[in-house]
This record gives sequence, C-alpha cells and structure tokens, in this order.
Amino acid sequence: QSADERSVAIPRYVRVNTALWTTEQAIEYFGSLGFTLFTDPVSPSAQGKEFSKDIHVPNLLVFPSQTSFADDYAYQNGKLILQDKASCFPAVVLAPPASDDAAVIDATAAPGNKTSHLSAIMKNRGKIYAFERDRKRFTTLETMLAKAQCSNVHPVNTDFLLVDPYDEKYGAVTHILLDPSCSGSGIVNRLDHLVESDPKEADAINSDSRLSKLAAFQLKMIKHAMQFPKVKKIVYSTCSIHATENEHVVRDALASAEANENSFALAPRNEALPSWPRRGLSDEMASGEDASSVIRCSPGEDHTNGFFVSCFIRRAAQSESSS
Ligand code: SAM
Repeated sequence: QSADERSVAIPRYVRVNTALWTTEQAIEYFGSLGFTLFTDPVSPSAQGKEFSKDIHVPNLLVFPSQTSFADDYAYQNGKLILQDKASCFPAVVLAPPASDDAAVIDATAAPGNKTSHLSAIMKNRGKIYAFERDRKRFTTLETMLAKAQCSNVHPVNTDFLLVDPYDEKYGAVTHILLDPSCSGSGIVNRLDHLVESDPKEADAINSDSRLSKLAAFQLKMIKHAMQFPKVKKIVYSTCSIHATENEHVVRDALASAEANENSFALAPRNEALPSWPRRGLSDEMASGEDASSVIRCSPGEDHTNGFFVSCFIRRAAQSESSS
C-alpha cells in the first residue's frame, strides 16, 4: 500500500470539544446540516453526508475522508477539533482527574490538540502546565488554547528539560503527558498535523543515526518526567512506527536509575485502552515485559496514522489503585 492509499483509508476524525458543548448537541448540529448518524462505523471512502461515533474514543465523531470542515461554523469557533483518532489515545490513557486540586503537565504541547483534550477531560478544572520550547509553535499553541477556551491551561514557552522537577510550583503534579518530537514516520495523513519540519527525503526521516538521536532525546524526556516527586502516571507517545523510538525507548526508560529509584513500571493493558486490539511488538520489548501493555496503531490498516502509546505508573500508585 502506498502512503496515498493508506491516507485515503483514514476517515476524517472530529473531536467534540466538550468544554463548549456536548456530543449530543454536536450530533444534533450535524443532523441540522443534513448529515445522517450511523451506528456502524462509516467507510472512509463513503461519498455521502454521513457520520458515526467512534467506538474507542469518547466524544470522537467519524466522517468520510473527503468531508471538509474548513468553513464549518463549529470548527471555526473551537467547538470541534480535527484530530486523528490515534492522537486522541494519550489523553484518554492519561485520564487526569477533573478536580480543582488536579495538577498536570503537558511537556511538549504545541500545537495543542492533546492539551485541549486534557483540558476537556478535566472539565477545565485544576491546572495544566503546557510547555513548548519553540517560540513560533508556542504562539500557535496560545491561539489554539484561546480558540478552544481552555481556561485551566498555563502555557509556558520553555524547554521541559530546564523545568526543575523540585520547583514547588510543580510539587502537586501527578500526571504528565509526553508527546515529544519524533521521526513522524507514522503520519500518512498530514492534514491535521502541524509538522515540525518536512524533510523531503524519506531516507532522512528514517536514517538510523537520526532515529538514535531522537531516541536518546525521548529517553531523556521520560527520565526527566520521572523525577517529579508526586507524579504517578506518565504517558509517552510518538507518531513513529519505529521500535527504536517506541518499545526500545520504553525498555531503556524502565531499566534506568530514574525508573528504579522512583518505582516506575508499565501500566497493565487493562489500564491502557484495553479494547484497542493492536499492541506492542513483543520481540522489541525487554524479556519479562508484557508487550500488550503498550499500544500501536498501524498506518492505514487501523484507519489511523501510525502511532505508539505507553503508560508508566509509580508502583505504589499501582497497588493503591488495585487495592
Ligand atoms: N502534543 C502536541 C499535540 O498533540 O498537538 C504535539 C507535540 S509535537 C509531536 C512535539 C512538540 O514538542 C513540538 O512542538 C516541539 O517543538 C516540542 N518540543 C520538543 N522538545 C521540547 C522540549 N525539550 N521542551 C518543550 N517542548 C519541546
């Protein structure tokens, strides 16, 4: 399958921004525009005005791939967010609480799709510190957060690696979302992605030396996240299909001193989107680690872009939650 063929196999996913209205209201709205709601998943290649509710991600609607939202009133007003299904998984797995004392970090936030998703899950309560290192992308993040009316987000234009985990400002942080720069090798449909760079050569994206550099950076980011004293859950995701950036980074993070000192382990499958069938590559994990704890999406085949999601939990938190 070519990248174009895989791209055609991806429907148009639209996340309802539940900070501004409900999915029932959005369904009514689309009904008034002449769309028909189907119980069965719509085909990406359907030509009519039809849609369905996604079966894995709450508040996600699925339309045929050719559906355009550029002129849509609700999209223009931040009530709908165009976001690939797989890229909705990290916030669903992190599942931060909707409480006034909740404190969450989105370590690599721009353009802000996942930040606004976290904000909606938290019902705009508590606090999300959204870090973004790049100045231009930070401006995009601010625009996106304003449009989606995320009032519980504090965006900060800084490098997450320079944020002191022991700063008392972050003393209450319990959940961290880590979706750092990656090769982007899983992306076959760039429509809803603001890519960081657009290397012309596929070889450049996938070269071993580039992947090793990215993996070293990704590992550093996870180890940094593990040092926040109260953090009990860290979700690490990429839009890469390479084990070097996925299972291998997870394996190395679990073997690190930071994971051992702070007692981090992988959350079991039943805490990480258990209904999603495609899981990690067991040959690429450390022996003794359960590859079904992590999530993979195969570009095109799963009606999504290629994606990877893992969830680290502090062991003490694990026994608390299971007791
Ligand atoms: N989570 C975002 C979303 O769903 O909209 C996409 C994040 S994108 C894959 C990675 C982002 O991390 C880029 O905007 C990049 O500039 C930023 N970034 C990379 N290294 C960073 C660092 N050390 N600290 C903060 N941001 C960083």
